[in-house]
Amino acid sequence: MGDFETHTLSDLRDSWCRLLARPDALMLELGAGGELLVARLRAALSLFLLLLPLINLVGGGKYGETMIGLVGAVMAIVMSQVWLALARQPQRYRWLPWATTTYDISLTTLVLAGFALDSPVTGLNSMVVWVFYLIAIGMTALRNDGRLTLYSGTLALAQYALLSVTVFALVRNPDQLASIDYGTATASNQIQRLVLLALMTAITATIVYRMQKLVDMSGTDGLTGLPNRTWLVHRFPGMLDATRSNGGSLSVCLIDLDYFKRINDELGHLAGDRALKHVVDVLNQQMQDGDWLARLGGEEFTLLLPLPTGRAWERLETMRRTVASQPFLPEHGAELMRLTFSAGVASWPQDGADLSQLLRRADLRLRHAKQEGRNRVLARDP
Ligand code: GH3
Ligand code: MG
Ligand code: MG
Repeated sequence: MGDFETHTLSDLRDSWCRLLARPDALMLELGAGGELLVARLRAALSLFLLLLPLINLVGGGKYGETMIGLVGAVMAIVMSQVWLALARQPQRYRWLPWATTTYDISLTTLVLAGFALDSPVTGLNSMVVWVFYLIAIGMTALRNDGRLTLYSGTLALAQYALLSVTVFALVRNPDQLASIDYGTATASNQIQRLVLLALMTAITATIVYRMQKLVDMSGTDGLTGLPNRTWLVHRFPGMLDATRSNGGSLSVCLIDLDYFKRINDELGHLAGDRALKHVVDVLNQQMQDGDWLARLGGEEFTLLLPLPTGRAWERLETMRRTVASQPFLPEHGAELMRLTFSAGVASWPQDGADLSQLLRRADLRLRHAKQEGRNRVLARDP
């Protein structure tokens, strides 16, 4: 196999794995915003369902049919308000996008089946209703979850195939499969519909994949590969909520490398970049479950530790000693350089109630650590 083929294959495998993976917390939080958007759209579109029984009545349809249509439309409107209320909850229900997608697809199938009961060709060839499959699949892109998109496509394909086969099997007279308004329902145009559903699923899955990549990129620092400030700002409130509800602790450590300008001045910017990566490597080696290290910018980092002040100070103090004991080699044969950092620790809840208060307090302590001579960690005000 050529290089190109192996590359393409591994790219395909990567994208497939990503689509089937459970999205991370940030992606799910963005997806919850998408769920709310979809819920609002559904509530607005459900109102249009009232038009169907009305058209039926004006067109001289039977009274019974109109009433069934009316009851169906009112139920759909009530249901859409229930979904909207659930999507508005600050508490995120993981099952909600799955339930609403199942509802959207199944409601489309039900309306088509209702049409087919009256006139088989209308059930199979009504474009206006069928298009809601495509809308439901397309809207899964807003939830940022590839598994949901693939599920919606599979469900739509299965339900529509079942509907088509059932209608073809039950029709006694071929005349029922043709009308002036809806044309003729044939096996080949039904297969085309299924292909269109698969195509829409593939396009939507590609959009989800690309969007997830962009979200990842926007939350990642290009030099060190660490999460960046954007990531921290978006992720922190969720972490704090989790800490609050499970009764845990959370400490925010602000780390600033000492005399870093000198490295740039003496060795140049590229060596400075390598020195930064060296420190990050040493810190990364000491990370434990539940720790998060992010690059705030420049040579400043934030370390989140699920620990109370005292124990956070101990952990960071060990890290400080390890960094100081593992000097950086700027290039082969050059002299080793000792790199150190200073840090301030602030802990929730006593030092602040949100990220900006905690960072401000940690920064005060960091500045104090610098004044006291650098290469130290402070967890208390002077
Ligand atoms: P202090 O001990 O007071 O922190 O001294 P410092 O020299 O580290 O001072 P300060 O933190 O104010 O300066 C940070 C310097 O780090 C400024 C800039 O030259 C350098 N720096 C910031 N980001 C990068 C980067 O991405 N690459 C490189 N090579 N240098 C950077
Ligand atoms: Mg700095
Ligand atoms: Mg510095």
